[in-house]
Amino acid sequence: MMIQDAYLNGLMERVIARNPAEPEFHQAVQEVLVSLAPVVEAHPEYIKEGVMDCLVEPERIIKFRVPWVDDAGVVRVNRGFRVQFNSAIGPYKGGLRFHPSVYEGIVKFLGFEQIFKNSLTGLPIGGGKGGSDFDPKGKSEGEVMRFCQSFMTELFKYIGPDTDVPAGDIGVGGREIGYLFGQYKRLRNEFNGVLTGKGLSYGGSLARTEATGYGLCYFADNMLKANGRSFEGATVVISGSGNVAIYACQKATQLGAKVVAMSDSNGYIYDPDGIDLDLIKQLKEVERKRISEYAAHHPKAQYHAGCRDIWKIPCHIALPCATQNELDGEAAKALIANGCYAVAEGANMPCTPEAVDALQAASVLFAPAKAANAGGVATSALEMSQNSMRFYWTFEEVDEHLKRIMTDLYQNASQAAAKYGMEGNLVAGANIAGFLKVADAMLAYGVV
Ligand code: NDP
Repeated sequence: MMIQDAYLNGLMERVIARNPAEPEFHQAVQEVLVSLAPVVEAHPEYIKEGVMDCLVEPERIIKFRVPWVDDAGVVRVNRGFRVQFNSAIGPYKGGLRFHPSVYEGIVKFLGFEQIFKNSLTGLPIGGGKGGSDFDPKGKSEGEVMRFCQSFMTELFKYIGPDTDVPAGDIGVGGREIGYLFGQYKRLRNEFNGVLTGKGLSYGGSLARTEATGYGLCYFADNMLKANGRSFEGATVVISGSGNVAIYACQKATQLGAKVVAMSDSNGYIYDPDGIDLDLIKQLKEVERKRISEYAAHHPKAQYHAGCRDIWKIPCHIALPCATQNELDGEAAKALIANGCYAVAEGANMPCTPEAVDALQAASVLFAPAKAANAGGVATSALEMSQNSMRFYWTFEEVDEHLKRIMTDLYQNASQAAAKYGMEGNLVAGANIAGFLKVADAMLAYGVV
């Protein structure tokens, strides 16, 4: 989509020139600038005071060597990253991703998106993201521990409960957070809320594990109900079988839907009887196995190698919960042809721009990641609050907060879209609502 503003167009050209070979970052900035054209037209001060130029430039990027020794005694060297993108409304907050595809452009795209997502939660958190090209798959416990300890031995210099609070993301779950927190505590000799997604025995929050997947369904439920639909009786396809996918499956099922497919990076399973989530949890959370093993336990289930065709399975609601750009224009056409009426993004930027355009043109209800998957970071902020208070809330209390936050978020995004003449366009609404709070704080600070 074109950016309907000459200044923002020029800014986009500068972003591409100054950040070469980072297509994911360009894609994320482009989508936001398209949405913001009517906002800067109404508020030229955002351009005049330099807010737009500062917004696309990270406050700080930290890039470091992560040496560690594998089980065979061989020295391995990975790269670590932390992008501290914007702290206008609170300490940097965003996950760490461990995956071989991680490079500066991925971390910048995720950090940029995080600014708006965190603002949308209504909580005082800035935007950041980090990670490494380390691949935890196939590594022993000892190797994962030594890697995490080495990673934190550098990162601890730059983070803190009032500065920057990382969390998990792809490849970083409870186990990795435990090793990272243990090393931070040892180096700093402080016990504080520097990381979220911690285990319950050392400061974690109840419902944080479930929060992104549950929040996604709460958001989608609001969107569906506002349009006369619901999860009740709907057939749902979910990509991924990690943290977000598993708890999205659990909540969608609780809300009355039947989830018929899930995937991992090798392929997908289709189970017409409905996914057996206990088995998925056992395979993926406990045994760390491939999803292909599911078919051996359920004779009617089919396993297909490769992920692309998962979107050809007929469904009413699609929840992409694996990774960026996993649902393209062709997949969107297949969903539309099969009568899909809603897509809600659990992963970050899982739909390509072509897919988003096609879905919106066909009036498929579309919930963008920035809003729809914000439940994870919102609950992380609740974990920070509990750590600061040295206090714990019950599961039900945290879940109630989460539900209210996702409902408010839906209302804010849809009202912002309507106010700027784009009723029903939650992509624009989320970008605008997230932007305004951050931009006003930046204006208040002057040029800093
Ligand atoms: P996990 O590592 O727990 O799970 C990721 C899932 O996606 C796995 O099933 C994995 O398969 C699959 N996957 C990863 N990379 C690819 C790929 N290149 N192609 C196909 N499948 C892939 O991560 P999360 O569930 O935490 O994160 C999933 C998405 O949700 C990410 O986009 C993340 O940024 C986003 N997100 C996560 C939040 C959280 O709280 N965890 C919060 C907000 C957003 P395999 O097992 O084979 O690796």
